[in-house]
Amino acid sequence: MVAHAESAANDLPSEVLHPVMFGSDLSEHELLRAVVAESPVAMTVVDAAGIAIVWNPAAERLFGWGGQEVIGRRLPTLDLAHEVEHDELRARTLDGDHVLDQETKRRHRRGHMIDVAISTVPLGDRQGRAAAVLGIFQDITKRKAVEADLSWQAQHDELTRLPNRRGLMERMGALAADRHGVGGAVAVLNLDRLKEINDSLGLAVGDEVLRAFAKRLARAVRPSDVVARLDGEMFVVAMPRIAARNVESAVQRVLDRLGSHYRIGGRELGLEVTVGAAVCLVRDAPEEVLRRAGVALHQAKLHPNRRVHVLQAEDDRAFVERVELAGQLSGAAQRGELRLHFQPLVSAASGQVTGVEALVRWEHPDQGILGPNRFISLAEDTGSISEIGCWVINEACRTLAGWVVADGAAPELSVSVNLSVAQLLDPRLVAHVAATVANCGIAPDRLHLEVTESVLSTDPEAAARVLGQLHSLGVILAIDDFGTGNSSLTALQRFPFQILKVDQSFVSGIGVRPDDETIVAATIGLAHGLGLTVVAEGVETEAQRDFLVGHGCDELQGFLLGRPAPRPRLVFAE
Ligand code: C2E
Ligand code: MG
Ligand code: MG
Repeated sequence: MVAHAESAANDLPSEVLHPVMFGSDLSEHELLRAVVAESPVAMTVVDAAGIAIVWNPAAERLFGWGGQEVIGRRLPTLDLAHEVEHDELRARTLDGDHVLDQETKRRHRRGHMIDVAISTVPLGDRQGRAAAVLGIFQDITKRKAVEADLSWQAQHDELTRLPNRRGLMERMGALAADRHGVGGAVAVLNLDRLKEINDSLGLAVGDEVLRAFAKRLARAVRPSDVVARLDGEMFVVAMPRIAARNVESAVQRVLDRLGSHYRIGGRELGLEVTVGAAVCLVRDAPEEVLRRAGVALHQAKLHPNRRVHVLQAEDDRAFVERVELAGQLSGAAQRGELRLHFQPLVSAASGQVTGVEALVRWEHPDQGILGPNRFISLAEDTGSISEIGCWVINEACRTLAGWVVADGAAPELSVSVNLSVAQLLDPRLVAHVAATVANCGIAPDRLHLEVTESVLSTDPEAAARVLGQLHSLGVILAIDDFGTGNSSLTALQRFPFQILKVDQSFVSGIGVRPDDETIVAATIGLAHGLGLTVVAEGVETEAQRDFLVGHGCDELQGFLLGRPAPRPRLVFAE
């Protein structure tokens, strides 16, 4: 339908304008001029050639161009694209289309863009031919900004300002294999110690850690990679166009650039990252690739010395089994399925057994005896480590007391118990240790607690506090697997350790790798300088024993001296 310009100028029908002008000497013409002039809505009229006939003050306010600059000319646009759009819109409208609230952008006279909703209506001449176009423009810049804000929020994580899961999914389409068959890969990065940092230092520090990590991660990747935060402690790097064989080294490069030390609120915090990655196969849904990267992450966590795992075909089955195992593990202690095996520690000088290390085993109802490597990290992930840890401390102390009282073992005999990070940072630990030692009637220094270096780098302040409290109880503290983490001997001075256990990976190098021999000899010397007793782990050969004894190592532990067993040989004086 085309409105008639003729009637608009002269003789408006009564549905549009009341025929009697109450108390006013305005003509219709003047009234309509006033309507156009005072309207807060921007109104323009252009003729069929695009020449402006009407340009009201609201249009001037909206676009910055004054009526005198515009009337009688083609509408001013600073963009060719907008000009084309203008012409198309005009042609469409002249053809009889009414355009309603078409949202687009226009350039303001000062150069910036404004969002507008345009409605256009054709105006007919006296013969009823479409001769001009009425355009009504609304400024929707503010609404658009709010919408953009909401859509940003829906796709981003507020804390780190990285895309969230939804934002990631939007951007993951680029990973599908291209026509050369090169697809992308997805790596899921897990900040291993975040929960402990949150628990011990508070959520505000945890948030700072996340922000700092996100910043570093965004800088560590290629410009074409997408970095996102999934939830909690999980981040994702989506890597388009990467050959499957290069994924592991690409992830490793990112980890190298990330570094592991962060200074947050005056504290030095160590962060470890475990990564699972999966390549994107042709036509994989983004969720599926992400799920497989998650499976790879679980595989990586199973191997404490492997920080990166790229998904292999057989991993999915392993993952399902691990989930099942996690379910069976909870309550294993109450059901009486846990066992302790004890491995002797022998004095290098006298060959006498000085103590035993308690090593936990799980007697699985179907799978038989499982070693700690199969279930300790699972217990840490699922939270059952506290329950298992309490059971181990009780059982170790109870067994030692029984040997001394009933079996006549030397009262100096000690028992060593391993503590994982989560246990050390569990606020109930100190009280539990104190109560157990007292209940079993053993001297506190008969209980040795072993922690690894990673405990110290996670949260050194909290570790120092708890270790200090344990030391005050009279319990002896040992640093286990020494040399495998990144702490130095001087860092050890800050903690009340009395025993240092040289990791078996160095001991196994004796007679094979000269570097390992140098490390072992230097570690023994430096540890003695700090007043620590040195235990060598994993001693399997006479040659290793001779080297260690020759270099002044205090105690030896390993298959050569005795394997872990429920009731070890050599425990009792011969
Ligand atoms: P670890 O504390 O360093 O314990 C020594 C590990 O080396 C034991 O493995 C032991 O069987 C093994 N081993 C001892 N001598 C030799 C040797 O001559 N050659 C070789 N190749 N290996 C030797 P296991 O029992 O499998 O324990 C593995 C790790 O699991 C332990 O390493 C410890 O970190 C952890 N673990 C064991 N029991 C517990 C526990 O009750 N709680 C916690 N949190 N962790 C535990
Ligand atoms: Mg140990
Ligand atoms: Mg060890």
